[in-house]
Amino acid sequence: MTDCLFCKMVAGEIKPDIVFENDEVLAFRDVHPQAPMHVLVIPKTHISTVNDLTPEHASLVGSLYLAAQKIATDEGVAEPGYRLVMNCNSEAGQSVYHIHLHVLGGRPMAWPPG
Ligand code: AMP
Repeated sequence: MTDCLFCKMVAGEIKPDIVFENDEVLAFRDVHPQAPMHVLVIPKTHISTVNDLTPEHASLVGSLYLAAQKIATDEGVAEPGYRLVMNCNSEAGQSVYHIHLHVLGGRPMAWPPG
């Protein structure tokens, strides 16, 4: 999608701080980190929200989580622990409508989330 911020990153028109990339996913540091380590993992194909996922996306969604696991390990937060979050629509706080998995670590996390 031409007007999607994250599609522009996939296309190389905007250069995020990339930490991981493969054929299916791109991962980069969040510009407004909410924890010492805050990375976003996105699919390279445009999917607006979790509500738009279909069974054909099952492998791709798995790839997002496997990328998050590798990033957490590489960033040294796998053993202490980390949080994975995917917001869906406005009431959950989604602001960019291209699905993305937040990978947050480096500090204790509270529950319930705000
Ligand atoms: P959400 O609110 O769940 O849609 O998350 C969107 C995330 O994208 C927020 O945490 C923003 O800080 C992050 N974000 C927005 N613009 C950029 C950017 N140019 N580079 C990196 N992260 C961004």
